[in-house]
Amino acid sequence: MSAPSRWPEEARCVICVTVHMDGPAVEAGKGLNHLGIHSRGRYAARRGIPRSLEVLARHGIPATYFMCGYDAELYPGLMRDVHAAGHEIAAHGYRHEGWELGDEEVGLLERTHAILSDCVGEAPVGWCSPSGRKSAVTLPTLRRLGYVYDCSEKDEDLPYLASIGGAMAEDFIILPNNTVSLDDAPLYVQGQASAAEALANWLEELEAIAAGDGYLHFIIHPRAGYGSGTPARMAAADRFLAAAKAVPGVAFVTLKELAAHCLAQPGTWRSPRG
Ligand SMILES: [Zn+2]
Repeated sequence: MSAPSRWPEEARCVICVTVHMDGPAVEAGKGLNHLGIHSRGRYAARRGIPRSLEVLARHGIPATYFMCGYDAELYPGLMRDVHAAGHEIAAHGYRHEGWELGDEEVGLLERTHAILSDCVGEAPVGWCSPSGRKSAVTLPTLRRLGYVYDCSEKDEDLPYLASIGGAMAEDFIILPNNTVSLDDAPLYVQGQASAAEALANWLEELEAIAAGDGYLHFIIHPRAGYGSGTPARMAAADRFLAAAKAVPGVAFVTLKELAAHCLAQPGTWRSPRG
């Protein structure tokens, strides 16, 4: 007899598909005009997000979309389209702040929270740091606002309870994304990979993770440039999702669903090594 599943739906492998919009907010955060090479974020709104919605709908896969407050102000209708398609809207900074924020941080977290909540009529409960920046006030502020997960960390294979204020929180979980080759941006930027090479990486990870711990966190950016918004790259993501669906015992869940599942039994998810 096989061991009981630790995942929702008694799955052997859980797959969380996340889409980081990274629209014009990225360039705005750097003080750039959205022109020429700096218009790649706008591609996410015009082409990449609709293309991703078509692929996910065809596969019947729910995803988590990480949105910046600035992008939601520019494209409120697009946010509502994503939400109406059944996907989770989660927070990803205001102008994709990857720099130290000091006294501004709490206000920016609150501002994006209010923008996204008002835009789609549902408050986000998940956050991913733009570029990995966090401070001592980040998680306490997110928890106060009602968030239950952060997926910024790359230090584990499995979810684990967060430490907040020096104590292990039983109401807030870290959902790590540790696998660099399951994130399109490093493959396409540092790796200079073709779409076929990126797909080959993803399929290798799928095989290994499905045979191992069974937690796969797949990240695409629907913008032009460093992301998967353009046709051949979105086709590679499409083929990956088709292959993942064909693996026996796989379940696709949003990060919000996975967080709720984990926090229903917090004792199972204590950090193994502190
Ligand atoms: Zn981002």
